[in-house]
Amino acid sequence: MSTETAQAADDLPPLFAELSAWAGNDGAPQLRVLDSVAQFTHHRDIDALDHSLTLSLAELADAHVVTLYKRSGGRGDPVEGLVRCARDEHDRYSVVSLQPASDDTAQMLLRQGDRDGGCVRLRDGNHGMLVPIRREGRVMGALMLEGEHPMDGLRALVEGFARIYANYIALLDESERDKLTGLYNRRTFERHMQRQTKRLDDGDAEQPSTPRWLAMLDIDHFKRINDTWGHLYGDEVILVIAQQMRASFRQNDALFRFGGEEFLVLLEADDEATAGIALERFRSRVQAHVFPQIGQVTVSVGYAAVGEHDYPATVIDRADKALYYAKNHGRNKVFGYEDLRTRGALDDSKAAGSVDLF
Ligand code: GH3
Ligand code: MG
Ligand code: MG
Repeated sequence: MSTETAQAADDLPPLFAELSAWAGNDGAPQLRVLDSVAQFTHHRDIDALDHSLTLSLAELADAHVVTLYKRSGGRGDPVEGLVRCARDEHDRYSVVSLQPASDDTAQMLLRQGDRDGGCVRLRDGNHGMLVPIRREGRVMGALMLEGEHPMDGLRALVEGFARIYANYIALLDESERDKLTGLYNRRTFERHMQRQTKRLDDGDAEQPSTPRWLAMLDIDHFKRINDTWGHLYGDEVILVIAQQMRASFRQNDALFRFGGEEFLVLLEADDEATAGIALERFRSRVQAHVFPQIGQVTVSVGYAAVGEHDYPATVIDRADKALYYAKNHGRNKVFGYEDLRTRGALDDSKAAGSVDLF
């Protein structure tokens, strides 16, 4: 043990001093904190990071429940997702991702404004503490700890975790997203697909998950735009199309820039026709937009079902075949692979994919 860990609580930075006071000042708590930080920042995937953060804090604070609330909007926006780590009757922690309930205490506190958080006595008699998570000056979420003992002594610790978490999320976001559009980049696609197929595998009978579809979008005659107006205008078109994707699709649909002017959407829909309606809405939205110089730009779309045991490359290949069909049948159209198959419209020997697979 190094001499630093043996120093008096007075000389310690506030976070450690507080923690030492709480846990007996024998040097061990600092190591536990370091270990926890190392563990949760080990992850390169935001979902895994969220899970690990709540578990680390629950173990460290000996809490019954630790909940991470997340929102992507600004002040007063509702919470969009939450991750909860709870202890069961066998003293084992388990972590789940949930849809937030509107009457949740922390959700209400966050909605009332960007509060400083604080310690509260909960309706069930337990003690709670809410700590906001700030990123670039706005509250992007909060951590809520619940346990049988007052939490005041842990506040600095949890605030420290919240700051590390926010910084780390910013880094991960940067590496997962395309610089121009802010959409997920190609590198993250396979992981999203794996998560999808795992989710379908795990699906329990009580809560059947909504089927997913993979759509591939490609701007029509984009070379002409570049050749006529130059690459800067081309980039502007890519940016606007990405904004229209955000405006068109739902929060749960994952959006990717797959290549230059090609995009992917992993979308939820009950059946092929419903997925087609959502994509058609996007297609017509793009068609209706008038670019100041360029005028009208259109997109072609092909989509395919994401089956339980499908490899990402297989699904991409199917969506690409439907896209290829759209390109060969007038562009500015949406086609579903399964529908084309049923109609016998696809001839595999001719419909070679136009996209480089992984
Ligand atoms: P089609 O309707 O068949 O899709 O015709 P297209 O001209 O759009 O053909 P394709 O999809 O093959 O063209 C892609 C072009 O996009 C080629 C490349 O010059 C351009 N491109 C790729 N990435 C970028 C980018 O980041 N910015 C700009 N401005 N252009 C890009
Ligand atoms: Mg293309
Ligand atoms: Mg194109």
